[in-house]
Amino acid sequence: MSFENLGLIEPLLKAVHEAGYSTPTPIQAQAIPAVLGGGDLLAGAQTGTGKTAGFTLPLLHKLMTSPAASAAGGKRHVRALILTPTRELAAQVEESVRIYSKYLPIRSAVMFGGVGMNPQIEALRRGLDVLVATPGRLLDHHQQGTLDLSHVEYFVLDEADRMLDMGFIHDIRRVLAILPPKKQSLLFSATFSDEIKALAERLLNSPKVIEVARRNATAETIAQKIHPVDRDRKRELLTHLIKSNNWHQVLVFTRMKHGANRLVEYLLKQDVTAMAIHGNKSQSARTRALAEFKSGELQVLVATDIAARGIDIDQLPHVVNFELPNVPEDYVHRIGRTGRAGAEGEAISLVCVDEEGFLADIEKLIKRSIPRETIAGYEPDPHARPEPILLGRRVLHGAPGSRSGSGGSSGRSGSGGGGGGHRGGQGGGAPRQHSGQGQASHGNGGGARPAQGQPQDLRAPRRTEAANSGPLSSPPPRRVRG
Ligand code: AMP
Repeated sequence: MSFENLGLIEPLLKAVHEAGYSTPTPIQAQAIPAVLGGGDLLAGAQTGTGKTAGFTLPLLHKLMTSPAASAAGGKRHVRALILTPTRELAAQVEESVRIYSKYLPIRSAVMFGGVGMNPQIEALRRGLDVLVATPGRLLDHHQQGTLDLSHVEYFVLDEADRMLDMGFIHDIRRVLAILPPKKQSLLFSATFSDEIKALAERLLNSPKVIEVARRNATAETIAQKIHPVDRDRKRELLTHLIKSNNWHQVLVFTRMKHGANRLVEYLLKQDVTAMAIHGNKSQSARTRALAEFKSGELQVLVATDIAARGIDIDQLPHVVNFELPNVPEDYVHRIGRTGRAGAEGEAISLVCVDEEGFLADIEKLIKRSIPRETIAGYEPDPHARPEPILLGRRVLHGAPGSRSGSGGSSGRSGSGGGGGGHRGGQGGGAPRQHSGQGQASHGNGGGARPAQGQPQDLRAPRRTEAANSGPLSSPPPRRVRG
């Protein structure tokens, strides 16, 4: 199978060729003919499968080969609308649109919150064919009368499951209400929960359903490894690994924003170029960090789980779990950042005695045991005793055997809340990496509801990472002694 066989127009084939792709990925091989054939589509595909080109290429083909449905009097109108859950994903999808439409007279733009509206209004005034947006900003424009969606012929809901996780359901409904009823709609989601099925039923008309292999099984191309280490020596070990292996483009995960910042400070002192990416950073700082990381200027990008959603970096060689996530599914998302589109990748986890229980949960989920490798000089103290982990205002028990019984909340059963407690990380001189600002969220007043079966505490309703104020219903913070 080649791209030529899919019947795409020549300028698209040229752009695809220049992007270095020779063979369509499985989702592309299925989605491209399905979209070209017309009709709605429900596609099960995760980031890293090549899904973006899977919908972008046929949409661009159709925009070029079918005349605008409405007599537009020479003015360009938005004919294709792509909705994404996060700003980063929106920016990346639009970048893909630009890459693939390089040889086409197509105009595209991306719109998300956190940046000024005026340049976006200007772009809308000049006229667009393809708009990539996050729901909140799209609705802001609509309310202000700066956006006309009445000419939309193609609508893509990308990463629909994450949209629901992030509490966007009401916004999605509002967007659907203002789109023309007659259009071709495509829904992409990594999972098919009941909520996704309900959304698909509402949005799609007798859709074709395609699904590619889930990466939940943690792709074989990703080499996974555990390095057991004492909690206070993780930073040193990370630096040692980066320097001794001459690693570049390392994506490092921490549980909390505060921990991400402190790790960056430490790495910089060790002459490792690093930046943190999380919701307390301005949009321009996030964009800059991502661009420098992609270009190879920046050796290490430290991210929290929420900030990392939607980040797509091609063929990322190394992912490091500086701290294991307390939600096992997040491990799968994290390591999905590497080894994508068939490339080899390495996912390393630095695990201290406090996190053995989290590790057991992860291994249960992925149905395999991850090989342990102790690094000489960094052997953990065999007598070290597990300590609870402070996550915002919550106390987690990540040690083995402490998670299913009574006494304390585990990562799965912990109650929500904990928006702003960063005192835990600063008070008492406790140098614990786990402490720091709560990334967990409060509701958005708009009926945000986490997907079924997902822990409420780490699934952030919209615009929450930066919003650390608001009433907290959880108990006051308990300090963990270091
Ligand atoms: P996506 O799942 O859309 O985020 O794509 C994951 C990555 O795979 C992107 O960064 C693309 O550059 C890359 N990619 C997409 N299609 C192909 C292909 N046919 N061959 C090789 N790489 C691809």
